[in-house]
Amino acid sequence: MPHCDLLIEGVTLIPSAFEPPVTDARIAIAQGRFVAAEAGMTADRRLNLAGHLAVPGLINTHLHSALVMVRGTAEDMGFAPSYTKGVPQAQMLTPMEAVALARLGALEALLGGCTLINDVYVHARHTMPAIADLGLHVWGCNRLHDVDFDAVLEGSWEHSQAIGAAMLEEAEEMIARFHGQPRMGIQLAPHAPDTCSTPYLEQLRDLALRHDLGLQTHLCQSPAELKRVAEREGCTPVELLARLGMLHDRLVAAHCIHVTEADIAALGAARVHVAHIPKNNAASGRYAPTRALKDAGARITLATDNRHGDMVEAMRWGLCMGRIQTGRVEDSWQPEHMLHAATEAGAAAMGLGAELGRVAPGMLADLTIINLARPHLVPHNDPLGTLVHTGQGRDVSHVIVGGEVLVEDGRPTRCDMAEVMRDGAAAAAAVWARATG
Ligand SMILES: [Zn+2]
Repeated sequence: MPHCDLLIEGVTLIPSAFEPPVTDARIAIAQGRFVAAEAGMTADRRLNLAGHLAVPGLINTHLHSALVMVRGTAEDMGFAPSYTKGVPQAQMLTPMEAVALARLGALEALLGGCTLINDVYVHARHTMPAIADLGLHVWGCNRLHDVDFDAVLEGSWEHSQAIGAAMLEEAEEMIARFHGQPRMGIQLAPHAPDTCSTPYLEQLRDLALRHDLGLQTHLCQSPAELKRVAEREGCTPVELLARLGMLHDRLVAAHCIHVTEADIAALGAARVHVAHIPKNNAASGRYAPTRALKDAGARITLATDNRHGDMVEAMRWGLCMGRIQTGRVEDSWQPEHMLHAATEAGAAAMGLGAELGRVAPGMLADLTIINLARPHLVPHNDPLGTLVHTGQGRDVSHVIVGGEVLVEDGRPTRCDMAEVMRDGAAAAAAVWARATG
């Protein structure tokens, strides 16, 4: 008699972004991977999820989970928190505060259906294992720069070998400890072309090559970054990375807002993965030219960056911001393209395209399951269209990673949600008190 660990029945399944929904589907999982659901199959556990929609696990390719500490405030101050005076800064956090905040942000992401987050911030040697305890895949790195961020807040970009070397040492320790551990990995993260000197970027490029790691960075995020790189190097940030051999198909470039036509062509030709952050960019009055980037060959993934972790929102904003760019509704920019960006394209950006992003025998068993029995999701004649246009992350009822149920009926199974919220709120209060005197 065929047997599996977990058998999900009755669910509507979208196996991958461009496949039609399968109603009354059966999903079988054994030893952490999807297997063929055979007739008469027995299971250690059965879940009847009639009235629910299952999609491949959502992948957030660019997140600073601890930055939930500035949600509801930094959005209205004009720019990214690391460049904004008057809000708590990364360098103010103790390791324990970073852990408490990162767990809060990561729990929000998990409850909203994320099965993998690519998380970069300070104290990552402490936050990554603390996030991993929640059970989702956590990839990431410490924030790597050699600029003095306290000086940047005063408008001065001063690079320090000592700052850069300390960050590099932490990154090397993280590679040794975490890369290749179950559900963990390192993608080396130079903060941005303006906050890393060119010699430092070269060091990070070489470290990535030495350990066969992918890279991620903020790229063309702001006029300030463009001005600084132009003054320093006489070129655009994209041109600088190309010159250094860092513009390639193992680079995840977050934002890509302020790009020239030549930059777009170069990003496309290099098949760079763009971490598109539509909601936060829109809140700052900006957008990335995703349609032109995609047409040029760049690969669009989705992310939330900071202050929130709702990837269903990201899909909706990505869809709408793309349509604003052409002024039309087109077959080439539909809900399935957003689901692709949030699943298969995200997996490819993390170098995990052979293991994640689709529901198929042999793939790692990651699933995001949405309860459709909510007034704003009825009717759902096209369940994906309904999810992208009117759904929310909080409609996610179950999250499964590697066959393990991490969220059940909207509740986390590995942690005490009240405790995570209490610890996160206390850490935020402490750092806000120090930041504002
Ligand atoms: Zn960011």
